[in-house]
Amino acid sequence: MTYTIEGSTGSWEVVVGLEVHAQVISRAKLFSGAATDFGAEPNTQVSFVDAAFPGTLPVINRECVAQAVRTGLGLNAQIHTVSRFDRKNYFYADLPAGYQISQYQHPIVGTGQVEVELADGTTRQIGVTRLHLEQDAGKSLHDQHPSKSYIDLNRAGVALMEIVSEPDIRSPEEAGAYLRKLRAILRYLGTCDGNMEEGSMRADVNVSVRPHGEPYRTRCEVKNVNSVRFVMQAIEAEAKRQVEVWESGGTVEQETRLFDPARGVTRSMRSKEDAHDYRYFPDPDLLPLVLEEDWVTALKAALPELPDAKRARFMREYGLPAYDAAVLVAERATADFFETAARGRDAKTAANWIMGDLFAALNRTGNTIETSPVTAEALGKLLDLMADNTINGRIAKTVFDAMVETGKDPAAIVDERGLRQVTDTSAIDDAVAKVLAANAQMVAEYKSGKDKLFGFFVGQVMRTMGGKGNPALVNQALKRKLL
Ligand code: MN
Repeated sequence: MTYTIEGSTGSWEVVVGLEVHAQVISRAKLFSGAATDFGAEPNTQVSFVDAAFPGTLPVINRECVAQAVRTGLGLNAQIHTVSRFDRKNYFYADLPAGYQISQYQHPIVGTGQVEVELADGTTRQIGVTRLHLEQDAGKSLHDQHPSKSYIDLNRAGVALMEIVSEPDIRSPEEAGAYLRKLRAILRYLGTCDGNMEEGSMRADVNVSVRPHGEPYRTRCEVKNVNSVRFVMQAIEAEAKRQVEVWESGGTVEQETRLFDPARGVTRSMRSKEDAHDYRYFPDPDLLPLVLEEDWVTALKAALPELPDAKRARFMREYGLPAYDAAVLVAERATADFFETAARGRDAKTAANWIMGDLFAALNRTGNTIETSPVTAEALGKLLDLMADNTINGRIAKTVFDAMVETGKDPAAIVDERGLRQVTDTSAIDDAVAKVLAANAQMVAEYKSGKDKLFGFFVGQVMRTMGGKGNPALVNQALKRKLL
């Protein structure tokens, strides 16, 4: 599936690379002991180091380093046992030191790979160029006072992983799939919560266009896009803009742009600075970071099962189709829910209920899998009630709706509401006789060859029995009586 922008001079290929800033899950900051809780009162989580008081020194947080290594391993990337911290110098009011401690030429993680699945069932490998550790800046608040700006340094010094992809992405869809996959990997690893609304994962999107087969052209960077959907929309808008510029005889200038989701366009923010503008140099306060091989090996051994491996196992162990497996492993909590509900039961039936009725109910009630009113154990019990013929499939839907509403155990709902399936053949025969007697005309038509009426009789008998008849037995009884 090739994505192109059709211009007046022909079709254009879109080239995208993503730089993702992912906030490290860690109780303390990258170089200080200050806390990192989201939503705390402004300036309550700021150490002297974060506020850049003269004479203070940064001390590296071992857990943040471990998180970066785990992430690198999860991205099938090279771990650099020697890396280095540099100062990236720039002035901003929410950056009290006047520089950000980052990693420039020697990042902790080198090249890796992310496999993404596309809607048409194909997969693509997106290269990861590098992952480096750096500090976040503080936050300027411009909306608190009519003539003053306030500074909140709670975020200053929080550890970020900047994950840079190769320009391997060729469509908005691929960018979306890459971001979702990356977020899933980070969440599985427990290294970033991936919460784009809270800003703990943000993407800078590099976009360029070219006629097919030609060399890369100038790219523009769309800065700080904070949702997967907006990234996809920004790529489309920016690619279209560039095609128009080239086709009208102009030149795309390298610059930093912002995406305006309300208007669906990107607009210029500033001309793009080059690395040399930042006057990078090694931070004299920090030694090179040297990792012991054994420590990296131990982190690797302790990694959880990641989405790709889990998907393969779900297909192998539970016999699930690739699509079901991919949907169920997208979130770790969903995968866990599935395994609990499916264990010792028909796995495909469990998958169908989760992807169908459960997802619909979560949507309808504004819940997530974590806050689901129906637990995995309860869904499993519902499946058992169907498997042992206590209820039929149609009644199961009624019981499930009641479970969503009340949070009660399915067996209790079946008892309270008298929903037990009727397998008593004499009761079924009675219902059949009643329906046939009341529909003599239809019976005559059926017997003269209108086979399709059989379904009508089944429906009538089920209705007479309040939906509780065993469908197989109802079918048998009707066939016998209509001979
Ligand atoms: Mn950065």
